[in-house]
Amino acid sequence: MSTPNPNPTYTYRGSIHNHTVHSDGTGTIEEVVAAAARAGLDFLIITDHNTLVDQSQQGWRQGVFTLFDIEVHDPDLEPERNHCLTLNVSEDVSPFARDPQGLIDAVRERGGLTFLAHPIDPPGKLIPECFPWTEWDIEGFTGVELWNFMSEFRPYATSKAKAVVMAYFPQWFTTGPWPEMLAKWDELLQRQPTAAIGGPDAHAQVYHLGPLKRRFLPYDYCYRAVNTHIVTSEPFTHDFDHDRRLLYEALAAGRAWIGYDMLHATEGFEYVGETEKGVTHMGASVSLEDHPTLRVQTPAAGHIKLIRAGSGVVAEAKGRTLRFQPDRPGAYRVEVWKRWWFKPRGWIFSNPIYVR
Ligand SMILES: [Zn+2]
Ligand SMILES: [Zn+2]
Repeated sequence: MSTPNPNPTYTYRGSIHNHTVHSDGTGTIEEVVAAAARAGLDFLIITDHNTLVDQSQQGWRQGVFTLFDIEVHDPDLEPERNHCLTLNVSEDVSPFARDPQGLIDAVRERGGLTFLAHPIDPPGKLIPECFPWTEWDIEGFTGVELWNFMSEFRPYATSKAKAVVMAYFPQWFTTGPWPEMLAKWDELLQRQPTAAIGGPDAHAQVYHLGPLKRRFLPYDYCYRAVNTHIVTSEPFTHDFDHDRRLLYEALAAGRAWIGYDMLHATEGFEYVGETEKGVTHMGASVSLEDHPTLRVQTPAAGHIKLIRAGSGVVAEAKGRTLRFQPDRPGAYRVEVWKRWWFKPRGWIFSNPIYVR
């Protein structure tokens, strides 16, 4: 007879960085929610530029827990940069964007979260506009958007011919977060806990090239691609306040992984620290004195890498499991890569477990 697990966990898949007709996206709220529902997402966070959509419309819509937040930037700054995803806010905080630290503080005072959007954002040959984060003399922000799905494509469009191929077969190009972004995150992790999320930055804009007209990265495509998966200790109950708290608490703590679910569903991924005292999840700390074992389980075979921020790969395995006993403190995070079309592709990026 099996005994019930005393500490069950639940995982939910959702999309965090989304634009609608309320800023420069092309879908109405209803259309965007419908696309999320078709992709089977559990939650959806709309983040229009400097616009807070009427929050009385939040809640469970078409089976998707839908929330409205803001992607904030200073519209007077030339060139435009320093985009910040401000979550769990109930007022328009965009006027604070003039001063990045002031914005972070204002959002935190209001109980909100701040994720630096596409902080490393290289320009492209064909599309030189880019929107990196440049104000690094900041503190108290929640985390970073480690993988911005849309901005990854810009530098790949080195010619018009390539841009056309990309518009029809984006999956041939998708590789993973920028190596510079992963390095930046490791640098931050050596100083303070820093949560990571991934987002599609969905706009679903239509591009024209001669006689060709193509919607690039439609919402349906985005929601099958780069998602953020949260781990919670309680299930969603469809009570608005309860579910909102559960979602934002998981994101704030970094109890989450980023999954490129198009390659293979990442549900079933698990990364925990195990000691005689119990189980530690992503985003939490475990003491070295308790002799933790870091354990990784993936839903399909891949190249699993365990990375200690600042030291690089400390253990790796090809397959579905990896176990490692750390002998020094640090932030330990997991990357899983999978080969597809002649190239390793980033599949899973976990938040770290902090070994103290
Ligand atoms: Zn942005
Ligand atoms: Zn955006």
